[in-house]
Amino acid sequence: MLLCCGIAGAQQADIILHGGTVVDGSGAPSRVEDVGIRDGRIVFVGPKGKWTANRTIDAKGLIVAPGFIDPHTHTAGDLSDPARSRNDAYLMQGVTTVATGNDGAGPLDIGATFAKWTQQGIGTNAALFIGQGSVRHAAMGGDFDAKPTDAQMAQMKQMVEKAMQDGAIGISTGLYYSPGSFSTTEEVIELSKVAAAHGGIYDTHMRDESSYNIGLLASVKETIRIGREANMPVMISHIKALGADVWGQSGQVIDLINAARAEGVKVSASEYPYDASGTSVSAALVPRWAEAGGRGALQKNLTDPAVHAKLVAEMEDNLRRRGGAETLLMTSARDKSIVEKNLAQIAKERNQSAIDTAIEIVLHGDSDVASFNMKESDIVAFMQQPWVMTCSDGSDGHPRKYGTFPKKFHEYVVEKHVQTIEQMVRSSTSLTAETLQLKDRGLLKVGYYADVVAFDPKTFRDLSTYEQPKNLATGVKYLTVNGTLAIDEGQLTSAKAGMTLKHQ
Ligand SMILES: [Zn+2]
Repeated sequence: MLLCCGIAGAQQADIILHGGTVVDGSGAPSRVEDVGIRDGRIVFVGPKGKWTANRTIDAKGLIVAPGFIDPHTHTAGDLSDPARSRNDAYLMQGVTTVATGNDGAGPLDIGATFAKWTQQGIGTNAALFIGQGSVRHAAMGGDFDAKPTDAQMAQMKQMVEKAMQDGAIGISTGLYYSPGSFSTTEEVIELSKVAAAHGGIYDTHMRDESSYNIGLLASVKETIRIGREANMPVMISHIKALGADVWGQSGQVIDLINAARAEGVKVSASEYPYDASGTSVSAALVPRWAEAGGRGALQKNLTDPAVHAKLVAEMEDNLRRRGGAETLLMTSARDKSIVEKNLAQIAKERNQSAIDTAIEIVLHGDSDVASFNMKESDIVAFMQQPWVMTCSDGSDGHPRKYGTFPKKFHEYVVEKHVQTIEQMVRSSTSLTAETLQLKDRGLLKVGYYADVVAFDPKTFRDLSTYEQPKNLATGVKYLTVNGTLAIDEGQLTSAKAGMTLKHQ
């Protein structure tokens, strides 16, 4: 390859990041180096020697790393809306690539979605899963608790086949949620094999992260079985031990996964660094049978005297499992008067039981909740596993969408020393690229795409809170997406330089 030049021997880059502390994503020790970018790719990592650049950035004192990759987001809506498609919440955290379509949900037409994003422009790179729940809903409509007929199964397979041909990176499930919850393991395996035939991966919000139905450990076993029998890598989304009944089970979960990995099943997981999950009142408290048949059936079951006693008893148990009414904080609801209050406070104001209050909230359009249900010791135990990636699972009404990556850095690297910076960066870059099979991303390496973050370790912080979940993070000074500056001197540029990352 001819590398051009004005001055004899000199080589011209677009951008050089000069003198930063390079954490290259592999886990190797950090070192002070220069990084050169040209035509969207990294052209050198090392002393700049005779390289010159159109723009030389003084990166002294900054951490220079591969842009972060988030394997579990809910950004499909954002990326499809030109007003939000720059994906500011993620860029400001140093994230250059997101995957979405997780939890079994997300767009059904992968090809059309990618085409729209390419046409309108997106701020980060984006990859897509085909959601098993979306597929099942499309094929079976409201027959949530039915077993698919042969024709319906064939139709679902056809949809997954089409999605994989259109570039989905794999299939996602949300077996905790309706309609995925009504799928048997065998049904999931059969459908996942279609994605496996294309080299896709399986990503799951497991059937139970707590003690709702089969339990946490049985859910991990189910996931491993799916990996083994569909013969594909499996990724457990936002791994956690949810609720008092399963606190402390992280060790057993880790043992199960390590044993499966030793046996040759490719199992990985993602995790967000928060002790509250984000869900809705109905998802947290209402039993799934009450949702079978969709929204209309839910309304009926919530008000039907014939099932009221059974409903209340099960909701009470679910509330106990979650940690009680104080632990459910309303974060965004149609009824604005309840936002920022917990269920116990609202019940007290209304002078009624927590369960009656929860039923009222669901009947009036439901509410997002932050559900404080995780133990720090479990969070840390999972984080320390070499197969656990960083994910945001970003959703409205939870600070993780705007804060995950800087929070993990500030809290778990700087303050608590749970991870080294090299481990934190690896778990947020190369490990994720490898798991999602994203080619030439996740490392600062010659020939790789120039997704590069330079952040100030002293100021890289999450500012989003449960009260103010949409505060942008601070501390990223420079960010390139495919070699184009998306953040320059701490400010977002107008660039939408993201690519759609189609599975090949
Ligand atoms: Zn999920």
